[in-house]
Amino acid sequence: MSVVGIDFGNLQSVIAVARNRGIDVICNEVSNRFTPSLVSFGPKQRYLGETAKTQEISNFKNTISSLKRIVGRTFADKEVQEIEKQYLTAPLVDVNGQLSVKVNYKGEEATFTTTQIFAMYLTKMREIAASETKMPVSDCVIAIPSWFTDVQRRAVLDASEIAGLNVLRLINDSTAVALGYGITKTDLPEDKPRNICFVDVGHSSYTVSVVSFIKGQLTVKSRAFDRHFGGRDFDRMLVDHFAAEFKTKYGIDVKSNGKALIRLMAGCEKLKKILSANAQAPLNIESIMEDRDVASMMKRAEFEELAQELISRVEAPLQKALDDAGLTIEEIDAVEIVGGSTRIPALKERIQAFFKKDISATLNQDEAIARGAALQCAILSPAFKVRDFTVQDITNYPIKMTWQPTPEEEDTELVVFNKNNTIPSTKILTFYRSAPFDLEAQYAEPESIPAGINPWIARFSIKGVEPVNGEAACVKVKARVNIHGVLTVESAYVVEEVVKEEQVEESKAEAAPAEGEEVAAEAPSTRKVKKLVKKGDLTVVSATSSLDRALVSELREKEMEMIASDKLVVDTEMAKNTLEEYIYDTRAKVDGVYKDFINPADKEKFVADLNDAENWLYEEGDETTKSVYAAKLAELHVVGKPVTERYREVEARANAARELRESI
Ligand code: ATP
Ligand code: MG
Repeated sequence: MSVVGIDFGNLQSVIAVARNRGIDVICNEVSNRFTPSLVSFGPKQRYLGETAKTQEISNFKNTISSLKRIVGRTFADKEVQEIEKQYLTAPLVDVNGQLSVKVNYKGEEATFTTTQIFAMYLTKMREIAASETKMPVSDCVIAIPSWFTDVQRRAVLDASEIAGLNVLRLINDSTAVALGYGITKTDLPEDKPRNICFVDVGHSSYTVSVVSFIKGQLTVKSRAFDRHFGGRDFDRMLVDHFAAEFKTKYGIDVKSNGKALIRLMAGCEKLKKILSANAQAPLNIESIMEDRDVASMMKRAEFEELAQELISRVEAPLQKALDDAGLTIEEIDAVEIVGGSTRIPALKERIQAFFKKDISATLNQDEAIARGAALQCAILSPAFKVRDFTVQDITNYPIKMTWQPTPEEEDTELVVFNKNNTIPSTKILTFYRSAPFDLEAQYAEPESIPAGINPWIARFSIKGVEPVNGEAACVKVKARVNIHGVLTVESAYVVEEVVKEEQVEESKAEAAPAEGEEVAAEAPSTRKVKKLVKKGDLTVVSATSSLDRALVSELREKEMEMIASDKLVVDTEMAKNTLEEYIYDTRAKVDGVYKDFINPADKEKFVADLNDAENWLYEEGDETTKSVYAAKLAELHVVGKPVTERYREVEARANAARELRESI
């Protein structure tokens, strides 16, 4: 079983696997170390990852990007409508409040929820990992934005299950980076912690974390973000600039044309990258719209001027992370940067200027998250032995529970998990109740979570509560923020106070006899103590944002059907290619090397058959089933195979004779 870590990036994703000799980033089917985070639909099949990239422009209405920005969101979500929509090219629709996309798949209109789309992409991740490691893949660790809320985390977990993955941990991306850093450092201090600030500027978001390290352990001290700051904001800024320029220069409105806009976006991203290493860069797009070619260029200085406001946004999260960690710049031992957008020189300089020190790049900026995730998977997997490294992560947002009070109660709510509470973590709440009751969990500071997300997390109904000896029962409720950063109520139970006789043994430490001293055996005395004793478990019914179990199974079935259908398309294409190759190859050879192994009359008929088969391939055989192609090939083999066999036999004999001669 492979041990896999996935960095789910907004633009591209990276997969790493743990092997005995270390962590390897693996390549996809076209030997790339990143896979575009795209899902696309065609008339015959789905396109996932690399193949979807080829559909991005030509089939943009059926291609879905920004997967991680839309998973776990609702259709009405303000951020979806106001921000994400700008980057999405497939139409968004509302299916019972769930954000979904409407596409044309296999010639029909189809809608899929964003959880399903995410699952499709994870299927691709699983297939890439399985094909590279030549082993089935199930256990994995997926890195997600540290700022994901409960609903987003649960959506990723549902999607993973639909894709057939068993997530050992959803790891916060910034924590994965820290783990990758810590585990390779052999010189970590025993006591006085080393404080590192990790800065990740990706395609769509920006995260800063302050982490302290001692030998064998990391502790996340604080985390701050700008959820809407990344490479795509620079791209959009350039798009605005050039769209305005082309309006005056060529009289065209690129923004009015879907395809033209996507092409301009791609052109701007390329220009931005060139400017990171060059003083100026060209922008040329042929026939962008209305048969117009456009051409322009930009100097780095101009880019920096335009991007000034954007770049200044890098500072606030840095300051916030330091403040929350209670550390000064001087107390930060090193600053590590990752993420593609930290390649923008002006951005890097601004970070450097903030810390007034050089920033180090010990980590591979594109692969650090995936490596950390694979390491976490190795630590958690029973199939792997790795040096233990304790990861102390923290929550991002305070969580409170509310309830209907009893007449004796004043409080109706309690913040159960504060911001920056360690995860995983369990808290036990005590209630005095005579009847079943509900607890509602929600984020205590709705303004701190992503704007469009409902702060409600879950309702936990504690069933079967009844009075004990005519009085309210003492109910203990075990709430947990688990390893994924998801809130659960694991159990609830009634406790009763009972008076117990307890034996009091004299403390061994106190009564330790001096050497040689004789000790008289003393009868143990007893005392009465009040003890809380667990008296039976209560049923907890949880209503969360996770999908219903039955629905997950149904969606898993559907996903498997689509996988089978995609595979059939690929297999059919292969069967067709095999037939085509056989026709060309054999026809050339019957006039060449096979000439002496087929009698002339048979040959004439065989060539005619091959020609017929070729014509058939261009006509009704152009699109048929895998079994029809296989049957056609079998028909040709009836004459062809004996010829090939006779030829091979003679060849083999000649080779053996030659070898014998040479050996004499
Ligand atoms: P996110 O972390 O937001 O989910 P991601 O992980 O997909 O996104 P990265 O792979 O870290 O993002 O970075 C991709 C971004 O980095 C893109 O916007 C890309 O244009 C930008 N980028 C990559 N190389 C360069 C470069 N040389 N100069 C400037 N920007 C670059
Ligand atoms: Mg990233």
